[in-house]
Amino acid sequence: MGMPLTIPAQLLPADGRFGAGPSKVRPEQVAALAAAGATVLGTSHRQPPVKNLVARIRTGLASLFSLPDGYEVVLGNGGSTAFWEVATACLVERRAQHASFGEFGAKFAAATARAPFLAAPDVRRAEPGSVALLAASSDDGAEGDGVDVYATPHNETSTGAMITPTRVPGGGLMLIDATSGAGALPVDVAQTDVYYFAPQKVFAADGGLWLAIASPAAIERAARIEAAAPQSGRWVPEFLSFTTALTNSRLDQTLNTPAVATLVMLADQVEWLLGQGGLEWSVARTRESAAHLYGWAEERDFATPFVADPAHRSTVVGTVDLDASIDAKRVVAELRANGVYDVFPYRKLGRNQLRVGMFPAVDPADVEALTASVDYVVANLS
Ligand SMILES: *Cc1c(COP(=O)(O)O)cnc(C)c1O
Repeated sequence: MGMPLTIPAQLLPADGRFGAGPSKVRPEQVAALAAAGATVLGTSHRQPPVKNLVARIRTGLASLFSLPDGYEVVLGNGGSTAFWEVATACLVERRAQHASFGEFGAKFAAATARAPFLAAPDVRRAEPGSVALLAASSDDGAEGDGVDVYATPHNETSTGAMITPTRVPGGGLMLIDATSGAGALPVDVAQTDVYYFAPQKVFAADGGLWLAIASPAAIERAARIEAAAPQSGRWVPEFLSFTTALTNSRLDQTLNTPAVATLVMLADQVEWLLGQGGLEWSVARTRESAAHLYGWAEERDFATPFVADPAHRSTVVGTVDLDASIDAKRVVAELRANGVYDVFPYRKLGRNQLRVGMFPAVDPADVEALTASVDYVVANLS
């Protein structure tokens, strides 16, 4: 790259963070962290100040997601990736069905495939940019086992494709990876048994924690599977025990030490979302951003929304392919040199693409400024 372009200041977004996770942290969250600096940070997670933070998060999430009777907010350390192992150890009885249409869905499918005590999963695959849907299974697999868990991403962050979580008829626990969708995509939690996520996307905090909204059926399933182990032939390490996490969560604690700063920023974001009008507000705000991004891509002859079906185009993580004549890597680098960050595509997707995080912390006006900035870069590339 030669001399970097200078994008005129009036075109640039007020805040240039568009990452798909870790995502933009609002200044007010950082202020909350600074305020906690003299009180909560550096104090015991077994004492009231930190337990009160966890209580605020659990109560706030219960309200944000309008929890049906008997559903509970559970949390533990390790992020969503750790939760895949928790679910493999404690929630899949014999066989899972996975919708796999990108990196994250595929990773959970790989986790249950590795478990020696489970039958090979039924994996429903679709090409990146489209979606695979779960379906009642009549295929009992090589071992003759029926499916007892249905798993899908809510939003596939690696490709920018989203679905609407809907119960598969005929039973089986519904496990929804809502890591990048929870808090900004519409959901009827009653259609799910475990709606799980992590704080570094919509909730604009740091990573390292998993959160799961669990139905009574999921809680009962884990209790039964864990009680039968290890005689049943499976080993459930304490760190991966869903029931241990639940027991601790009910006491507003985690099994081992959490990152307290993450809790502070997460609590602030949950309360901010509620104060703005809750899930409905958040859904509307991200829809506004997405309508602009995809509308812009459709108007430009050098850009195309990657996800062909408008109904599956994510309203939180937008993906836009650029014409082969324009080097997306160069566009991303020019933007970065001008303080506009992280609009690169998912690394393994390998497309000539821009990917834009449009989480609720991102002002829709900044998404407009981003597309104006891209227009400027494209017009001035030599
Ligand atoms: C980011 C992401 C993950 C991984 O989350 P970690 O907390 O880093 O483990 C999993 N699934 C989806 C859909 C994601 O967007």
